[in-house]
Amino acid sequence: MATHHTKMLIIGSGPAGYSAAIYAARAMLEPIVVQGLQPGGQLTITTDVENYPGFRDVVQGPWLMEEMKAQAEHVGTRMMWDTIVSVDLENGPPYKAIGDSGDEYIGDTLVICTGAQAKWLGVPGEHELGGKGVSACATCDGFFYRGKKVAVIGGGNTAVEEALYLTNHSDDVTLIHRRDELRAEKILQDRLFKNPKISTLWNKTVESFQAGEDGALGHLVLKDTQTGETSTLEVDGAFVAIGHAPATGLFKGKLAMDAGGYLDVEPGTPKTALPGVFAAGDVTDHVYRQAVTAAGMGCMAALDGERYLAALEDEAAEPETEAAE
Ligand code: FAD
Ligand code: NAP
Repeated sequence: MATHHTKMLIIGSGPAGYSAAIYAARAMLEPIVVQGLQPGGQLTITTDVENYPGFRDVVQGPWLMEEMKAQAEHVGTRMMWDTIVSVDLENGPPYKAIGDSGDEYIGDTLVICTGAQAKWLGVPGEHELGGKGVSACATCDGFFYRGKKVAVIGGGNTAVEEALYLTNHSDDVTLIHRRDELRAEKILQDRLFKNPKISTLWNKTVESFQAGEDGALGHLVLKDTQTGETSTLEVDGAFVAIGHAPATGLFKGKLAMDAGGYLDVEPGTPKTALPGVFAAGDVTDHVYRQAVTAAGMGCMAALDGERYLAALEDEAAEPETEAAE
């Protein structure tokens, strides 16, 4: 067990965390990034990324995150293979965080970039059949359903991208949505509707996931939101893609958050109510939730952290100057 002290402690290694690290390292703050259970963040579980600026051609999510990490390391960031399990914000600054490894991290400033995690429906069979037909990541598990029938639940960008991706493996993909209109961007909707391998079931919710004779997922029980009628859909795989919840459990009771659990920040800034504590990316943003916006907020947090530390240094220097006069 060791203690690591840094001028800027960054929790999380998605686009927000790596971008904060790049700026902090270049400002000589010798940042530490504690990477967490998903180094690289959410983009590591997707394939094509075609809206991150700077790349004319489509890039792969895991590749993009490896590049960001390499850039952050190149300019002097220390990466830690650890996950923060508790934080002490009451007795700071400096702020203390404890890792799963038992290591202690002390940051003169703290940048929270813990992002978001997949949401689950919470209906019978979902948990029990996890890994046996029920998944929240088509790019991770789609390969197992080659030539089989699959369903995707949700109507946002993730659901549509998951459905499109699954057509690489399956000719029979059903998108199930609780309304009759998708939330996904128009360009993705167009691709979905044009794809002959995808059919849509509107106004349906999944009531339960049912096992087949082999113990793996066999069918879904659906309910029509308009008529209340129930029906079944035989599938081998079902991908829940209903959005993400911010990873803010660590900060409950310590930092203000909204009803959805997103960290509160001063509007237009990454500043939380605590001095020197910043939040960036999906952990505080329920509106945009994009790699580029997360990266932008990471940059803002590092710049504000640098200014905060510089102001403290100026304050500390003032009495000496007066004494010298
Ligand atoms: P995240 O990427 O969520 O990273 C969070 C980080 O925090 C992770 O590294 C995790 O390990 C770490 N962490 C969490 N808890 C702890 C802890 N206790 N201790 C230490 N570390 C911790 N956006 C786009 O712009 N373009 C796309 O094409 C696109 N495609 C997407 C496809 C999918 C399937 C998904 C799910 C999202 C997609 N997005 C896309 C959205 C984009 O991925 C997110 O907006 C972005 O990753 C948010 O970045 P972030 O840094 O805020 O957090
Ligand atoms: P999202 O935009 O919040 O959409 C969630 C979808 O799931 C909605 O259609 C919602 O239905 C549905 N849903 C939520 N709870 C449900 C429940 N209990 N039962 C049934 N359906 C439920 O989430 P997302 O698609 O994961 O996207 C998250 C963010 O990442 C977005 O900002 C998105 O733009 C971004 N993203 C971007 C890209 C890209 O740019 N290519 C790709 C993926 C994700 P309603 O519509 O009825 O609310």
